[in-house]
Amino acid sequence: MDHTPSRLFAMIQAGLRDEVLRSNTPWFCVACYYCSVRCPQEVPITDLMYALKRLSVHQGLCEQVDGRDFVRSFVSTVERHGRSFELGLATRYYFTRRVLRLLRLAPTGLGMLRKGRVGLRPESIRDVKGLRAILRRARALSGAA
Ligand code: SF4
Repeated sequence: MDHTPSRLFAMIQAGLRDEVLRSNTPWFCVACYYCSVRCPQEVPITDLMYALKRLSVHQGLCEQVDGRDFVRSFVSTVERHGRSFELGLATRYYFTRRVLRLLRLAPTGLGMLRKGRVGLRPESIRDVKGLRAILRRARALSGAA
């Protein structure tokens, strides 16, 4: 994330509209709801992240956001295998966007590989075809097909 969520909200208050909509922060939000559950002001932070992504797409500013590529890679992997493939996702993203960072993260990745925390090859769920049928139907219902 290029800005923390709290910084992003401060930027909204400061009227930095384009900077906010070009930020990769909402695209890297995994919607874990941790912040929303803990926020003492009960700010629906996760929902706001979704709203910012929608606005960014609507305003045509998301094409410049590298976090969007990350999301696209994630979605295409899930569509192909029914689950995420962390090693493929990370290497594709860092190779195309942040090669220097990849070099710095390589020791961590190798350590995770050695400990079996990430796999070398993607694993697929049993009924990938069924999942794809569900996704096709969902797209058709949403008009996105
Ligand atoms: S929902 Fe989770 S990932 Fe998203 S901003 Fe909140 S804590 Fe971060």
